[in-house]
Amino acid sequence: MVVSGRILTMTDVRGIRTAEEYRAWIGGVASTRTRLLQHGLASIPPVDVDVSATPAPARVNHGEWIVDCPEHGCGGAVHLLSGAPFFCPGCLNAGIGFRWRPVTVPAPAEREAIEAVLLRQPLVHLRNWEPGIDAVTLAAEVDDELRGVPAKHVRAIRRDVQERERRAGRGRGGR
Ligand SMILES: [Zn+2]
Repeated sequence: MVVSGRILTMTDVRGIRTAEEYRAWIGGVASTRTRLLQHGLASIPPVDVDVSATPAPARVNHGEWIVDCPEHGCGGAVHLLSGAPFFCPGCLNAGIGFRWRPVTVPAPAEREAIEAVLLRQPLVHLRNWEPGIDAVTLAAEVDDELRGVPAKHVRAIRRDVQERERRAGRGRGGR
């Protein structure tokens, strides 16, 4: 078990520091190798980002940064490698010609704020964040949890934010 004073990335979990190392790692995963062969590929294609592709969103799950494949029905995911694009070990980004996808992560200041809030929660399994939840909303949730209020699922928090924004939008736009 990794005890940590930070939200973990691929570097923390696997010691991987560069996109090339990430490429070498997924290329060595047995199930990925099998899929490469099925597609007639000898190795994971070089790190070449299709900037027009749908980005892969980052989230925090149980204290770890995860990037999800946006390809419908794929479900592939890897730890976030800061600054690196995404290559899916599941579908091999076949839908975009086996090129690498951009990753959406919060801007540095926002990311730092989100991580600082999550680290106030000592229970690692409650360190969760999804896009659409700002640091202020997250802080209110963590405050509640630390007071003993039962933790909400991260999706429920995001739904609350969306609902609030929808109402605010209607308020501004109405009449
Ligand atoms: Zn995928």
